[in-house]
Amino acid sequence: MRSELCTRCGSCVGLSGGSIVFHDREGRYLPRQIADVDDATAARAWTACPGKEFNFPFYRNHFYPDAPHFHEYIGSYQELMIGHSTDEEVRRNGASGGIISAILIYLLETHRIDGAVTLRMSHSKPWLSEPFIATTRADILEAAQSKYTISSVNELLPQIAAFDGVLAYVGISPQVQSIRKLQHAGDPSVKNIKYIFGPFYGNTLYFSSIRSFLRTYGERDYHNISKLYFRYGEWPGNMRIEMKSGRVIELKKFHANYLIPFHVLQNSLYCTDFTNEYTDISGGDAWAPVYEERGRGFSMIVSRTPQGQAIIDEMIKEGNLVANAITEEEAIKMHSHGYDFKKRGSFIRITFRRMTGKAVPDWGYRIKGFPVSRWLMEAMISSMFVLLRTRLARWSVEQMNPVFVGKMFEKARTLWKKSTNKIKRKELV
Ligand SMILES: Cc1cc2nc3c(=O)[nH]c(=O)nc-3n(C[C@H](O)[C@H](O)[C@H](O)COP(=O)(O)OP(=O)(O)OC[C@H]3O[C@@H](n4cnc5c(N)ncnc54)[C@H](O)[C@@H]3O)c2cc1C
Repeated sequence: MRSELCTRCGSCVGLSGGSIVFHDREGRYLPRQIADVDDATAARAWTACPGKEFNFPFYRNHFYPDAPHFHEYIGSYQELMIGHSTDEEVRRNGASGGIISAILIYLLETHRIDGAVTLRMSHSKPWLSEPFIATTRADILEAAQSKYTISSVNELLPQIAAFDGVLAYVGISPQVQSIRKLQHAGDPSVKNIKYIFGPFYGNTLYFSSIRSFLRTYGERDYHNISKLYFRYGEWPGNMRIEMKSGRVIELKKFHANYLIPFHVLQNSLYCTDFTNEYTDISGGDAWAPVYEERGRGFSMIVSRTPQGQAIIDEMIKEGNLVANAITEEEAIKMHSHGYDFKKRGSFIRITFRRMTGKAVPDWGYRIKGFPVSRWLMEAMISSMFVLLRTRLARWSVEQMNPVFVGKMFEKARTLWKKSTNKIKRKELV
């Protein structure tokens, strides 16, 4: 809980019966123990924790024994597709193609589930996200879109356990890993969860990103936020903040990405699960010029289990979803910079961290054999993260025009994508 390895998944908080709480959600957002925890509870929380350890090969063999395909970057899968919801309202509300929301609505309306664990923006504190169990189409639409600041979905474990009915669960990769650990351990808290879905996961940001973004626009008090969206409007969408005064601040998503190196959660840098490998179905943005130019929203869909594939097939057949298969090579090219960041960069960053004598996570596998140039590049990137997260750097960027900084960041991303275009497993040992 005190290390930089905490993912803030919320499992220890949820399992602790009130003895562990998140006390500073607008700050470091760390769990804190406020009362005694008995040994049995501590053992459950320790088992559930995905920050220190998650054995990828072990859980892959356990949950995906017969998957027809496996790639070290993508995980086990049945099929790779590009698609979108055919329901325009769902597609428009979704972060990319509205796939995850469409699936949840479909399962709800066909009575396969009674509720879905999702994440919406809080009604009382609209600058923070909050997990809840969606039981209607309107609830699911309210929860759609990506939230890029810290979320702690698993603090909802008591409500998940007490729910009267079958649940689908949506979470980012560390949260899903924790649910899988609990399922493997036979923990009663997750007995109602039948389906697991989730978005790809590049990184997540501290709340300081919102404060800093506001300061850039001359707004000093985040309490004056009335609505916060990370992906508002036409795909890929805008970061948009509506203030109580009626002022609206909006910046292209690609430009708002400039906040990442200044406010990234340390643990994101050690996480090697980009595509949410332990879900039934996961989804990411279909980042390719051919889709980006068209707007409207396209997702990459990875079906991983037979039950996940069956849902996709059924939804396509019934006209709820449009999805076309793509090759592994196309899929990797589309997110080459993401794989470079998570499947190369993370392992190098873990090695750097180990060299300083600090605790490192154990993922049960290692990708190695990177060229010297990649190590040097990572040394530069890691130094940049250290430098840009200082108060001075954050203050300096707040004095600049966010559109200008955002454009520079977008250019850097394009260059990174180009330079990693040919990233292939066979280049590695
Ligand atoms: C923190 C984060 C980082 C991401 N990084 C990348 C990336 O680098 N590359 C990429 O291609 N895609 C990334 N994605 C995924 C992408 O933004 C879309 O979520 C994905 O394409 C699914 O789109 P959709 O339209 O199908 O989802 P929607 O229909 O919009 O549904 C999204 C679902 O995810 C849930 N959700 C949203 N945010 C969170 C969160 N923080 N924690 C838990 N649950 C959440 C929502 O409640 C909703 O149920 C990221 C998503 C998140 C949340």
